[in-house]
Amino acid sequence: MDHKGRVKGLQTVFDRNHLDALLVTHLPNVRYLCGFTGTSGALVVDETRSAFFTDGRYTEQARAEVQGARVVIARKSPLAAASEWLMGRALGRKTRRRLGIESEHLTVAARTQLTRMLPSGFRLGETRGLVEQARMLKDADEIVRLRAAAILGASLFDRALDVIRPGVKESEVAAEMEYVARRAGAEEMSFPTIVAAGKRSALPHGRASRAAIPLRGFVVCDFGVILAGYCSDRTRTVHVGRPTAKARAIYEAVREAQATAIKIVRAGVSVAEVDQAARSILKKRGLAKHFTHSTGHGVGLEIHEPPRIAAGQTEILRPGMVITIEPGVYITGSGGVRIEDTVVVTERGCEVLAPSSKELITI
Ligand code: ZN
Ligand code: ZN
Repeated sequence: MDHKGRVKGLQTVFDRNHLDALLVTHLPNVRYLCGFTGTSGALVVDETRSAFFTDGRYTEQARAEVQGARVVIARKSPLAAASEWLMGRALGRKTRRRLGIESEHLTVAARTQLTRMLPSGFRLGETRGLVEQARMLKDADEIVRLRAAAILGASLFDRALDVIRPGVKESEVAAEMEYVARRAGAEEMSFPTIVAAGKRSALPHGRASRAAIPLRGFVVCDFGVILAGYCSDRTRTVHVGRPTAKARAIYEAVREAQATAIKIVRAGVSVAEVDQAARSILKKRGLAKHFTHSTGHGVGLEIHEPPRIAAGQTEILRPGMVITIEPGVYITGSGGVRIEDTVVVTERGCEVLAPSSKELITI
């Protein structure tokens, strides 16, 4: 779908949300709706039109990138220019109009400024996740990009396998992986690379540190790239030295939990059921209490976006959703295992992006 189609889709939910216009300030949402990739700007969409506001630094970029919206280069601030534009659009109307703001993304200062500048015929209304709702369903072009990002992202692990050895620092492993990523065309990493070895592998978000890889233990590698705006996300866990029977059992339990959850993913299944599928396998192995985070999350222009694959969430999977499946077991003082893939939900199941064998690799 082109940007115009996305804006049209957004306009169709205005009535339901009692909106006459929406101020989009969350940059991934701005990018999704009009194509602008810079770091300063705001998009205003009303019932029939949209306009993009940015400052002089982005004149050229905005003209080149923005589609389906008028580009306005603000003399003062983009918000002030947006207010003026709204004033023009409201002229001659009698009823008070409601401008939605993205309450999860607009700062208090910006809101105060907006309240001061807004034409008198307007009032502000808080909205949550309106654009994110649309972004959950990826179109064909987005899936092509996510697949390409996943393939590039997956190649980083080959490099990790080359360099993971006892005595090598976690940060050195991460650096080698990130170098491969940039050389292969990644715009940036989708999050700080996680390389967590030995006892540190029990930290679910153990960013690569200056610690050396010990002689024996798990090494969790969680890594992703951004390619053409879209993120990849993948985790593999390897073992340095000979694994104990217990370590092997933990790894196999996580592998089975992940495979079981992937197997039940298809349109019509709730995200809570997917979470439960992974958790129930770990429960059988007496490991459920060590699985301390949710089973997964949406991936797209952002590394973490809706839906959340977790207990208590009510979202139903639909074709085109792209989610991660990433159960893990973390035993403090000992070590941890996580295995993560990104999958595209289809009518009958799912497509695992850049699939690979997940048998335990020992180094
Ligand atoms: Zn990850
Ligand atoms: Zn993830």
